[in-house]
Amino acid sequence: MDFEEMLLANMTQPQAQKALGRGTAVLVTGSVEQHGSHLPLGTDAFAALTIAVRVGHRLEAPVLPVSPVGVAPYHMPWAGSLSLRPETLGSLMLDVCQGLSAAGVERVVVVNWHEGNTASIRIAADQIQAQLPVRVIVAEAHIITNGLFPEEMEFTHAGSMETAAIFAYDPSLVRLDQRTEGDLVESGSDGHAIFRRRDVFPVMKDFREVAATGWYGTPSAVPEERSREIIDAVADHIVSAVEEVWKSLAERAPDDDHPSSR
Ligand SMILES: [Zn+2]
Repeated sequence: MDFEEMLLANMTQPQAQKALGRGTAVLVTGSVEQHGSHLPLGTDAFAALTIAVRVGHRLEAPVLPVSPVGVAPYHMPWAGSLSLRPETLGSLMLDVCQGLSAAGVERVVVVNWHEGNTASIRIAADQIQAQLPVRVIVAEAHIITNGLFPEEMEFTHAGSMETAAIFAYDPSLVRLDQRTEGDLVESGSDGHAIFRRRDVFPVMKDFREVAATGWYGTPSAVPEERSREIIDAVADHIVSAVEEVWKSLAERAPDDDHPSSR
């Protein structure tokens, strides 16, 4: 697979017209935020991109990062972290989908790796689906990675899972030799768990409430080659889940010609 040739922006206009005319596009959301001194600021953006390109290749769908920056206000205490307002990310997605829809896209797969983007993506999807003949399917790649490989891929910040994603994207961006001491895994996991509760939960304001050092986890846990295998498996999972979801949506589509109550 040629990474570069999956990107919409690298295609010529006739190539893009043909590829988008097949009906599917892959959008990538990102985040530029601190990941300790051993992983790049763009970890979440690169993780989503490297998975999205694999997904796009298998679905024969062009891939477009909507923005390297995501919604990450709680990482702002660390210089270099950036954050979009939720409505900015939503507007970007809606504007881009307008053009994709005009080119024939009816199915947009959003590949995301950053928890802070999730609420904004859902609101954007509502707006896109209300205004355009487009269906949005969201793939939360970090959740899938942890779910498929719970022993190896810890759900930490800047730990084994994120290191694996960057190994798969570009190993030269992993700088384990520059790593400084992070928070203890147990303490960071307990802190994160409060925000990850599904029933009663606070909204994160400052990541120091999770980990005072900004990170916790075991970044050295997974070697490069294994990292690529894992990220490939995540892409495979997304592709089969998208097809399954798409098929069951088609089977359940309401019959607009005969609404049950009119
Ligand atoms: Zn991250």
